[in-house]
Amino acid sequence: MAHAVKELFPKAKLAIGPAIEDGFYYDFDIDRPFTPEDLTAIEKKMKAIIKKNDPFVRRVMRRSDAIELFRKLGEEYKVELLNEIADDEVSLYEEGGFVDLCRGPHIETTGQVRAFKLLTIAGAYWRGDEKNKMLRRIYGTSFPKEEKLKEYLDFLEEVKKRDHRKLGKDLDLFSTGDEIGAGLIVWHPNGALIRRTIEDFWLQEHYKAGYKLLYSPHIAKLNLWKTSGHLDFYSENMYSPMEIEGVDYEIKPMNCPFHIHVYKSSLRSYKNLPVRYAELGTVYRYERSGVLHGLLRVRGFTQDDAHIFCREDQIEEEILSVLDFTLFILKTFGFLQYDVYLSTQPEKYVGTTGNWERSTNALKRALEMKGLSYEVDPGEGVFYGPKIDIKVKDSLNRQWQCSTIQVDFNNPERFDMQFRGSDGKEHRPIMIHRALMGSLERFFGILIEHYAGAFPVWLAPVQVIILTIAERHSEYVRSLSAQFLAAGIRTEVDIENEKIGYKIRNATILKIPYLVITGDKEMTENRVTVRKRSGENIGPFTPEEFIAIVKEKTEEKSREL
Ligand code: ZN
Repeated sequence: MAHAVKELFPKAKLAIGPAIEDGFYYDFDIDRPFTPEDLTAIEKKMKAIIKKNDPFVRRVMRRSDAIELFRKLGEEYKVELLNEIADDEVSLYEEGGFVDLCRGPHIETTGQVRAFKLLTIAGAYWRGDEKNKMLRRIYGTSFPKEEKLKEYLDFLEEVKKRDHRKLGKDLDLFSTGDEIGAGLIVWHPNGALIRRTIEDFWLQEHYKAGYKLLYSPHIAKLNLWKTSGHLDFYSENMYSPMEIEGVDYEIKPMNCPFHIHVYKSSLRSYKNLPVRYAELGTVYRYERSGVLHGLLRVRGFTQDDAHIFCREDQIEEEILSVLDFTLFILKTFGFLQYDVYLSTQPEKYVGTTGNWERSTNALKRALEMKGLSYEVDPGEGVFYGPKIDIKVKDSLNRQWQCSTIQVDFNNPERFDMQFRGSDGKEHRPIMIHRALMGSLERFFGILIEHYAGAFPVWLAPVQVIILTIAERHSEYVRSLSAQFLAAGIRTEVDIENEKIGYKIRNATILKIPYLVITGDKEMTENRVTVRKRSGENIGPFTPEEFIAIVKEKTEEKSREL
C-alpha cells in the first residue's frame, strides 16, 4: 500500500505502518486528506504491484548508512525513527524499487498477497501527540482467501450497525460533544432510565451481599491523593488542582481515600472484619482527546466501586465471594463467556515479597476453587498488589475488560489503618478494590453493542407500545395504557393518524420489546394481540394475562421475550 501511495502521490512522506490485530495501517504526511476515490485508485495500483510479483529483498545495513539513504529520499520521519534505534545495524526491505525500513519477516514476492481491502481513512498525529503534525492514516486488511475477507467485511458491517454512538443517537440514549466538553456524557431520559434500572439492581444485590453504601464528594483536598500515592504514580491522569481559600483541592480521580476515611472513623476489631463499602462513585481522569471514544473511553465516569477491608486470612474467602458476585452480575446482563487474567508483581512495587506471595496465592486458590481457567499476566499487577481481571465476550465474540479485583497492602500502610487483633495488638487490614461492571458509562456502551440496542424487557426504557389501527380506538387504548402503567409497566401509546404499517415500523426502529396492536376486534373483546419486536405474534390475551407476562419477564430479567 505504501508503495502504491508513493507512486500516486510522490510527495507523500512515509511515517509508520505496522501490522495490527485486524490488518494494517500506514501514516502518511501529505498536503490534503485522502478521499474514498483515492482509496479506490490506491487499491487499483496495489493490484498492479501484486501482479508484477516482484520479490521482497532484505538488506541489512549500518544504521548511519540507512539514515543517509532515507535522508536522500526525503523521508524525514524514517530518519527520525532511525536516530532513535539503539542497534548499529538495521534491516530494510525492497520491492519493485520501493524501499522501507522494516524488521521483517516478509512474504517472498508481492504476488503472494491474496485478498485485501482498504477500509478507512483517519487523521493521526505523529507519535500520537496533538502538538505534532496531523498525518493521514489508511487502514486496511488482508486475508489468504477471498471468503475469509468477505466474512471479515460482514463482521465489520455488523459492528457498524451496533456502534453504540449511532444507536445512542437513534434510540435517544445519551450525548456528548464539543458543547459539553469532550469525554463528558449526558444521559437522556431513555439512557437515564436504563442506568437507574442498572443502579437499582446493583444496589439491591450489594445489600444482599453484605456491602454498605457510601457517598463521597467530587472534590477533596489534594493532600488525600498525596497520602494515597496517586500523585506519585497517577498524576498524568489527574486534572490540575484548584485553590479554595489558599488550599489545593482536586477533582477526584479515585474513590478509595473516602472509603478509607470512613473505615478510620471508628475503632475496628478483628471480629468486625470484613468491612465492605460500595459506592457508585463518579471520578474524573485526564485522557488525551485523540483516544476518547463514545462511552467506551471518557473523561468523567461512574465506577461501580467497592472496597473490602479484611484480615489477611480472609482474603481468599472474600475473593471467592467477589468472584461469585461478579459472575452472577455479568450473567444477569447476558455475558456468559469471559476470560480471566491473573496479574502478578510488577517491576515497581510496594509491600514485602511475603505480602505479594501470600496474596497472589490467595487469588490463585480462589480461581482454582471456582474451577475458573485463567491466564497469568506476569508483571501486570498494580504497584500496590496483584489483581484478577475479567474480560467478557459480547455477542460478536469481542473481548471487553470490565471487572477487576485488586489486592492492596499499600494504602492501609499509607493511611495508617488498623484493627485490634485477638492478641489485643494493632494490625493492618488488607484492602481489596473491586469493580464489577467497571464504569457505568463503559458498561452501557458495551451493553448497547452486545444487544444491538434491543434491550431485554427489564432494561428496555419503553417495554410496551400500544398502537391504534383507527382513530375510534384511541380512547380504549388510553385506558389500556393507564392499566399497564398502573401495573408498573413502562408503556407508551401511538394514536397518531398514520397507517398501522408505518407505526409498526417506527416502534420496531426503537426496538420496543412488545407492540400491542389494537383494532375493532380487540376493543370489543377486550383482548390484546401482541407483536414482539422480532415480528412474531403472540396472544390474544386478556390485558391482565399480558401484564402478568411482562412482569414475569421483567422480574426474571429474562433475555427472551
Ligand atoms: Zn479503590
